[in-house]
Amino acid sequence: MPWKRGVVLKSRRELMRMRAAGRVNALALAAAVAAVRPGVTTAELDAAAAEVLREHGAKPAFLGYPGPYPYPAVTTVCVNEELVHGIPGERRLKEGDIVSIDCGTILDGYVGDSAITVPVGRVSEQAQRLMDVTLEALWVGVAQMRPGRRTGDVSAAIQTHVEAQGFNVVREYTGHGVGRHMHEDPQVPNYGTAGTGLPLRAGMTIALEPMVLAGSPRTRVLQDQWTVASEDGRLTAHFEHTVAVTEEGPWVLTALEAPDLDAVEKLQYNYYFAGRFEPAAKS
Ligand code: MG
Ligand code: MG
Repeated sequence: MPWKRGVVLKSRRELMRMRAAGRVNALALAAAVAAVRPGVTTAELDAAAAEVLREHGAKPAFLGYPGPYPYPAVTTVCVNEELVHGIPGERRLKEGDIVSIDCGTILDGYVGDSAITVPVGRVSEQAQRLMDVTLEALWVGVAQMRPGRRTGDVSAAIQTHVEAQGFNVVREYTGHGVGRHMHEDPQVPNYGTAGTGLPLRAGMTIALEPMVLAGSPRTRVLQDQWTVASEDGRLTAHFEHTVAVTEEGPWVLTALEAPDLDAVEKLQYNYYFAGRFEPAAKS
């Protein structure tokens, strides 16, 4: 797997470029989500995202990504028990499914990486709660993305939030640094110990991605050699944002609406309920 070793700090100018890539990625995900309905194929969701990248002159970061064989699509699309790396195809969504879409965009040499899980029509209470908790866990992690905190603080915050709700985090797949490469150091697992790990510094850009399983944390790889699913067949959910550590606070580079850098503080990392999870004690 191409993994760029070493943590690369980005200048403000580079962060602006990453934001541009992140915004296109957000638009691509939004287009895919807009296409979600019973009867649609996962390949159609992929096509909707691909069209947005084309319109913006951006390149897909996933297409051709090395693995058991080069990754064959622009997005990964996962239904129900499928957790990550699902290859879009002829599977049709049906009422009550939940579907995760992950996309990576390269624009002007920089990568934006984000993922979302959404319901197909009406879903079970359990499915909705799993999605809610996974999204909350992402924002709990984002709240830790400040200079002086450590990667273990991010990991522990995500794990604690998920497990308090009776769900499990994946062990085999992690969040990661992102920049000119889709995968850079550091790795940021969804489990860990507060106060340990690499200290965060302004200019670090990390894709946080809670991958949450309703049942056992164990996973298996399906016959296509890419798709990762829960071993017990129970539901999973996945949300991801590319986030920059800045002196002003976390800057979510892949949010659909986000400000320029000067407005970061005002925006409270771009999400209406993120503030609910900010720890009361500031370092
Ligand atoms: Mg991703
Ligand atoms: Mg990622």
